[in-house]
This record gives sequence, structure tokens and C-alpha cells, in this order.
Amino acid sequence: MRPTILDPLFASITTLKGIGPKLVQPFAKLLDRGEPRLIDLLFHLPHSAIDRRARPKIQELQADQIATLKVQIDRHQPGRGRAPYRIYTSDETGTLEIVYFNLAEDRAKKMFPQGETRYVSGKVGMYDGRFQMVHPDRIVDEKGLADLPPVEPVYPLTEGLGAGVVRRSVGLALSKLPELSEWQDAAFVKSRGFLPFSPALRRLQTPQEPADVLPESPFRARLAYDELLAHQLALALVRSEMKREAGRASKGDGSKRAKIERALPFSLTNSQRRAMEEISADLASDTRMLRLLQGDVGSGKTLVALLAAANVVEAGHQAALMAPTEILCRQHFARIKPLAEAADIRVAILTGRERGAPREELLEKLAAGEIDLLIGTHALFQEGVAFRDLALAVVDEQHRFGVHQRLALASKGEAVDLLVMTATPIPRTLVLSYFGDMDVSELREKPAGRQPIDTRTVSLERMEEVVEAVGRAIKDGARAYWVCPLVDESERIDLAAAEERCKFLKQRFGKDVGLVHGQMRPSERDEAMENFASGKTKLLVSTTVIEVGVDVPEATIMVIEQAERFGLAQLHQLRGRVGRGSGKSTCLLLYKNPLGDTAKRRLAKLRETEDGFLIAEEDLALRGEGEVLGTRQSGLPGFKIAAPELHRELLEAARKDAALILQRDPHLASERGRALLLLLFLFDRDEAVRLIEAG
Ligand code: ADP
Ligand code: MG
Repeated sequence: MRPTILDPLFASITTLKGIGPKLVQPFAKLLDRGEPRLIDLLFHLPHSAIDRRARPKIQELQADQIATLKVQIDRHQPGRGRAPYRIYTSDETGTLEIVYFNLAEDRAKKMFPQGETRYVSGKVGMYDGRFQMVHPDRIVDEKGLADLPPVEPVYPLTEGLGAGVVRRSVGLALSKLPELSEWQDAAFVKSRGFLPFSPALRRLQTPQEPADVLPESPFRARLAYDELLAHQLALALVRSEMKREAGRASKGDGSKRAKIERALPFSLTNSQRRAMEEISADLASDTRMLRLLQGDVGSGKTLVALLAAANVVEAGHQAALMAPTEILCRQHFARIKPLAEAADIRVAILTGRERGAPREELLEKLAAGEIDLLIGTHALFQEGVAFRDLALAVVDEQHRFGVHQRLALASKGEAVDLLVMTATPIPRTLVLSYFGDMDVSELREKPAGRQPIDTRTVSLERMEEVVEAVGRAIKDGARAYWVCPLVDESERIDLAAAEERCKFLKQRFGKDVGLVHGQMRPSERDEAMENFASGKTKLLVSTTVIEVGVDVPEATIMVIEQAERFGLAQLHQLRGRVGRGSGKSTCLLLYKNPLGDTAKRRLAKLRETEDGFLIAEEDLALRGEGEVLGTRQSGLPGFKIAAPELHRELLEAARKDAALILQRDPHLASERGRALLLLLFLFDRDEAVRLIEAG
């Protein structure tokens, strides 16, 4: 149960004055949460701050400074034609013109009543040798001055939300922030010079100095450390829970695996074999498996997953394979089914689309043990889904899932062995920090018969040549992806770009062109993918939704527009969509001039190598961990405050701290332990709390 002291922070933001139903949506978008709570708002930190403390006289002004001035309003000069609206003001030392473009006279007169005194705050400019302020940020009277923050936080915003609303709402939320007992080690806090949680948060939201809000400020570091510790503690709790429950030994006789191998038109790569040996050893031992299988796109992870599943099925148990999207699940299912049948493994699929009677029937079979391998999305661990005897859970594309899902899935069976697969190769040094203490298998080798992908960088100015070349290729039967640029965080704008490109290409190539994007209904999206997979369409325009896992071996061309906007890892993932069959593949990275140095180096690295692990290391060197692990765009570990590239050393400290805490106080029963519960709740790692309560 959540400690009641936190209740006010978990109330909906609609309980704040001024946030009505109309504002909920934009806030939900801004805070990336369906029904935002006060705590979400409080963790929405300013990215910078404006220093309004300078209060010079007009005579002392300097061009480009931000100043707050007390002025008398002398005279209005409404704009005429192209001339702006001017308000002439003065103090005892000089005159200042306030300038507006497009301001109605009646409004101006209300804002600046002639003969009165006002405080204006904004950037000072110089025009024709006279001081002026264009569109002041603030205009207040004597009373309003008291509320004008000397150092004003500036927040990331979204459409439909003004700076004022966000600032005011955060202010209201701050007034509900209670003082909480310290959960951090006292000596550590002292040595770092950290403030306690609430004062540190308050200081970030109401900075005293612009530097207070910078990523490297001690106040931010304090909260980052809190967040990292919450994460590490949750991971450690899951880990210790999994290890506490003795595992079980699944020893298959190899019969089904052999049948699958015989049904394959190729033989396993050495890496696949090695990974299988490692997994089989884990399954056979009676400690619980917690293994990460890392391998580049196309390295053949799915097959390893299937063989692992076959192993537990041989031993008479069930297995589950969970993937993040409907498309991926269908694809896994389609590819696994014939192989599974060859080995008498009964496989089924469960996603949000299976409903009604067929779903009921499926669930009954699952509970009766008449399904051996269940493939599905999140739907797999909803309530009501009961396995007879789940022994192995495979989670594909792990980074889309959090600790929560792992917990939920693991709770579907007794001592379930866990295999997590990720196609984002992560340097070993980072694995521990993000995934917790897991064993790692790597597939570093590409299946035989793959040809290298011819990767080229082409300036956008040569778009016409590219279009023609792609046109020739599809006329010759090739299939191509065309990925549209990531314009900004907003999917809507991405979509507009993709739709426009699609229209343009359709004019050229007609029915051969298809479109797929993240805002389509799942069924439409699947249809678009299926049309492309079957060759009904030959050129598939998309936003980045194809990034994850989709496999169309016939596709041999990948065009990525404005490649310089994508992260290295993401480009590598996208490129991995081609070169999956035996045909010769090409990847065209279209870039917009001028290209910065880092972008140049990144694109060059892609031309140089296809080894995802090398690329990940380069990414780490170039852009820091945040990038290696992806941005919010690709849905990566949910850190709101910690910036891995800045707080890396804190991350290591948090990991050690978490281990130590659980060693001394496994049930978090001590005074510090109880404070740590608050921490887990604050950062939404509270699922882990259940483990302590159960244990
Ligand atoms: P990943 O999930 O790692 O991106 P997949 O499991 O989707 O890769 O495999 C990509 C493709 O390679 C699939 O079409 C699969 O059948 C094929 N494949 C897997 N293992 C081998 C192998 N040892 N030799 C040849 N092809 C393979
Ligand atoms: Mg895959």
C-alpha cells in the first residue's frame, strides 16, 4: 500500500486550480502519461531559466541583456502600415521604446495605461541608437512585481500549453509537496552536498540561480540519484525474488530440437549454437535463468528462442514468447508455426485481437496444458491468462518493456526461467546498469549466405536520381523501404512528412506504393505490412514504425531520408531490415546539407561497418549512453530525470547501494527501508514493493 503521506502527489492534476478537462490532453502529452498526476508535473523539470534579477536604470542598459525596468508610460504611437506599434516610456535617466508588431490599439492602451508606472521585463535591444524592448516577456504593476520570479524557470512545452499555465500549475503542485524522511545514506548525502528530496525538487522548480536547473546541478544530481536508486532497487528486488524461489531443472531430451533443426533449410550459426548451449545449461540447472540474448537485427534470435522453448516443451512444460507489437507477434507466429509443427509443438497466438469465444477456448487449452508455446503481446500477462505449467518466458525486444512486465510475466508460473532478447547491442559495460544482474549471450555472427549491405550517403539534392534508381529497381522486381525523417518528438508531424512523401511517390509509381505509420489501427498496419511482404506493394513508405523486428527477406533497398536526424543505433536497426535474404541489398542514407561533424562521423561509421556492437560502442563514444539505449522515441528505459551520460558514475553507485541495502535489510523494514518505500512509489517502481510484502 502506498504510504498516505504521498497521496496528494498521486492525485490527478485536474485537482489543481486552472486545469480543466480541456487541458488534460495537452498535459497528458507533455508528461507522457494518460492521466497525469501531481508527481508527474513535479518531475517535469525546466530545461533552463531566465535571470530577471537585473534592475538597471535606462541609462545603465546594455544591448542584449535581460532586464526588469521600472518605467513611466509616456506616449503611444500606433503602428501604421508596416511600422510597428511603439510605446514610449522613460525613467529619470532616459527613454525606452517598447515595440510590438501587430498590436491593436485598445489592447495596447489597456496593457500600458498612459501616465502610469509599470515594470517591464525582457531582452533589451538597440535600434538606431535608441534602447528598445521588443515584445516584453512580462509587464506587471507594483503588485504583480511581487509574483515575478527573479529567476524564471523555462519548461519544455507542447501544443496547446502555454508557459504560463505550466509554470502556475507546477507552482500549485509544489505547494502540496510534503517533507519526506531521507532514504539516502546520510554520509553519502553529506559527502555530495545534496539537499533532501523535497527541497532539491523545490529548488529545481523555483531556481535561485539559472545554473540551478542545469543538468549538472547538484539539485538535479540529487533527484537523478534518487531515480537511479529506485530503478536499481527494483531490479535488485526482482532479482533476489527470482533467485529466492529455487528454479527448476528443465532437461529436455533434444528430440524436438533435433526435429526443428532438420526442418530448417540452413544450419545454425556457431553463435546460435553457443547461445543454445548456454541457455540449455541454465534451463537444466535448478537456479533460475535470467539471461539476456543480444544480437543484431537478422542474427537469428527468434530461432534461438524457439529452440529454447522446444527444450522446455520436451521436458513437459510450457513456454511463452512475448513481443512488443501486434505485427511482430503475427510474424513470429507465422514463422515459428511450421517449425513448431514439424516438432509436434502446439503453438498459439494471443494478442488484443483475439476476443470472444476463440479467446476463451484458447485460454482453456492453455490452462489445460494443450498449448505448448504461446506467442503474444502484453495480453499474455493480463489477468485471466493462466498457464498449466509455464517454465520459460522469452521477452523479445526487451527495452520496450519495463521491470513491471517482467514481474507480471514471471508471476504466471513457478520459477519461470527468463530469456530477454534485444536487438540493440549494448556494450557489456552498460548491460548491468540497465538490465540488472543478468547473464549475457551474444549473437555476433550473421547467418551464412548474407551479403554485405552496400551503404551509401547521398545528398538530398540528388533526390531525383534516387527516386529514379528506386523506380528502376522496383520495376525489376525489387522491394524497397522508404523511411521518412524524424521531424520532432511529435508523431503527427512525422506522419505529415510520410504522407506527403507517399503522395509524391504514388504520383510516380502508382499502386506499387504503400504507407505504414504508427497511428494506423493495428489491423490497417498489419494489412499494409502484409501487402508489402506479399509483394502487392513494392515500395513501403513509413515513419519509424518498421524499426522493430519486421522481416521481409525480399526487401533489398532501404532509403532513409534525412538520416542525419536519426541516432546511430536507430539507423543501424533500420538498415537491418534489408540484407535479410540472399539478394544484394543497398541502403541509401539521404542527408541534408550542411552536415555537422558528428553527423558526418556517424554516417561514415555506418558505411564502414555492419557490426552492431562496434556501432553501439561508437555511439557511446559520440553521444553518450542515452543515445545507445535510444531516446524516448524508441521507448527506452523510463528515466525522467537521470541523464545516463551525465550521471553515469551515480548509476554505478546506485547499483552498489541497492545491493547493500537488500543485503542488510531485505524486507526494507528498518527506518531507512521504510523511507525507501516512499522512493519506490515516487518513481513508479512500486510493483517491486509487492515482492517485499509477499516475501
Ligand atoms: P533477429 O530476430 O535476430 O533480428 P531473426 O530471428 O528474425 O533475426 O532472423 C532473421 C532471418 O534469418 C530469418 O528469416 C531467419 O529464418 C534467418 N535465419 C536465422 N538463423 C539462420 C541461420 N543459421 N542461417 C540462415 N538463416 C538464418
Ligand atoms: Mg527478432
